[in-house]
Amino acid sequence: MPYRAPVRDIRFILDHVAGFPALAATPRFAEATPEMVDAILTEAGRISTDVLAPLNRAGDLHPARLENGVVIASPGFAEGYRALADGGWIGMAAHPDNGGMGLPMALATAVDDMVSGACLALQIKSVLTKGQIEALEHHASDAIKALYLPKLTSGEWSGTMNLTEPQAGTDLGALRTKAEPNGDGTYAVTGQKIYISWGDSDLVANVCHLVLARLPDGGEGTKGISLFMVPKFISDAEGNLGSRNSLRVISLEHKLGIHGSPTCVMQYDAATGWLVGEPHRGLAAMFTMMNNARLSVAVQGVGVAEAAMQHALAYAADRRQGTTPLSATGTIIEHADVRRMLATMRAEIFAARSIALSCAVAMDMATATGSADWQARAALLTPIAKAYGTDTGCEVASLGIQIHGGMGFVEETGAAQFLRDVRITTIYEGTNGIQAMDLVGRKLADGGEAAFRLIDEVQRAAEAARAHLPDLAGELWPASEALRETTEALLALPLNDRFAGAVPYLRGFARVLGGHAHLTAGLAYPARLPLARLMIRRLLPEHQALFAAAREGADGLYALTPEDLAA
Ligand SMILES: Cc1cc2nc3c(=O)[nH]c(=O)nc-3n(C[C@H](O)[C@H](O)[C@H](O)COP(=O)(O)OP(=O)(O)OC[C@H]3O[C@@H](n4cnc5c(N)ncnc54)[C@H](O)[C@@H]3O)c2cc1C
Repeated sequence: MPYRAPVRDIRFILDHVAGFPALAATPRFAEATPEMVDAILTEAGRISTDVLAPLNRAGDLHPARLENGVVIASPGFAEGYRALADGGWIGMAAHPDNGGMGLPMALATAVDDMVSGACLALQIKSVLTKGQIEALEHHASDAIKALYLPKLTSGEWSGTMNLTEPQAGTDLGALRTKAEPNGDGTYAVTGQKIYISWGDSDLVANVCHLVLARLPDGGEGTKGISLFMVPKFISDAEGNLGSRNSLRVISLEHKLGIHGSPTCVMQYDAATGWLVGEPHRGLAAMFTMMNNARLSVAVQGVGVAEAAMQHALAYAADRRQGTTPLSATGTIIEHADVRRMLATMRAEIFAARSIALSCAVAMDMATATGSADWQARAALLTPIAKAYGTDTGCEVASLGIQIHGGMGFVEETGAAQFLRDVRITTIYEGTNGIQAMDLVGRKLADGGEAAFRLIDEVQRAAEAARAHLPDLAGELWPASEALRETTEALLALPLNDRFAGAVPYLRGFARVLGGHAHLTAGLAYPARLPLARLMIRRLLPEHQALFAAAREGADGLYALTPEDLAA
């Protein structure tokens, strides 16, 4: 079944759950009128459905390949990328001074959701470029901005991010790539980077690498790392391409999924680079890019989940097998267990999409108002959106295979591709374990203030809903109180005990926020109540087990020695 972009669902969440109307009421985003939002979502939906989705299978079956040192993209990807670039989708959130549209992150995130559902492998390329634009806007010199931003925004050039090295994955403090001053304001960058997404391609005229490297006086660890712009081709100030820089793709990884997205091993041999931001402050600058990318990855999970869900629903409505007491057509969609799976998939997608779009709105509100509270809200929601969105991608894609039965395990149906493709999203941009540690560490470092403020909001909404929906409000309120108590309990624990419970805590937090999103939706539009009821009655109760595990501490984990684990 071909993918159809969920424009209506996204519009509903923006308007009734994520708080977009308040954003559109700010002077900064006043241009985001309902008509404009409609036009943007409808057109992004059309491109996703009609242009990008038909490329998804070709990317899987005909992976990007390395020929004579150049990466040749999968069939049709050139046209797909052109459609994204020409439509202005790459620069939609970039500043208008740099050729962008200056639109809210909430709309860019909604577009990322749809593009990911259509063709994840290609979306990755646009996300990296968008992230690079944001990092340069915040940290680069005027000369670098003037040269690179218009080309990146138009899609003529594209961006990558080069962090990982064989010995430096999660622990970037271990990275060894060097940058030596050339004496003319440029630097000679030398080292090897691995797993670099879209490290090269024949889709654009120039590939611009943001590379983390250490200056000669850069100390050990994360504090001694600087950020450099290292382009494939060196250009003049007008952007006319000149000589080839001394960097190359050594090989492409053979991997589980996203075959259309080339994952490159890159070699830099005294390649010419330009410093971006302050010396030794490169990681902070790169984090601008990574923060943006974390939310984009969140909706990669949501988008692929949507595609897997649509695929499974169509199959379930068609496949005849057995009968039930309620049988009308004899198709498997009539079986209670298949209904359970489909309803769970739809409820999780709605919850994960709502959390991601709420996070995007919080980022925009922080931009529009400068308020520290909105900034703290966005920071709190980012790891939850990333981890829960991508876990949802994997779980929904796995249920999609289950609904297909044996045909799900057979590649020709396409159900397996969703799971293979989405599996990476829980790993890159900081593994989901690291997201959870960020939540219980840095994001509770304010004494839990931002978390408690959000819990207060959930409780006020539950109180207000009691008169109309006492059964649902009566479930949500105690769940949110359990979240409050668990947050207080974690705050009293040493850090490693918090880390031991971080993943179940994050998931429990997402359960409460998901219940809140569904209740809000049900109140706004009663036709949404059956799904809200499913979320709150069947899925929200998991919070009890999750919070119990979150509070257990680390001792029990370390009590199991590696020898015990081997037994
Ligand atoms: C397809 C693909 C595309 C990628 N694209 C890019 C890219 O474009 N640019 C780029 O720079 N990188 C990229 N990466 C790299 C990716 O970001 C890393 O794989 C990721 O950060 C994890 O690092 P690692 O693989 O070294 O795993 P490790 O860091 O070795 O982690 C292994 C396991 O240990 C856990 N772990 C590690 N440290 C801790 C800790 N302190 N506390 C608790 N648990 C911990 C992790 O959560 C994980 O479960 C990509 C990777 C892949 C596979």
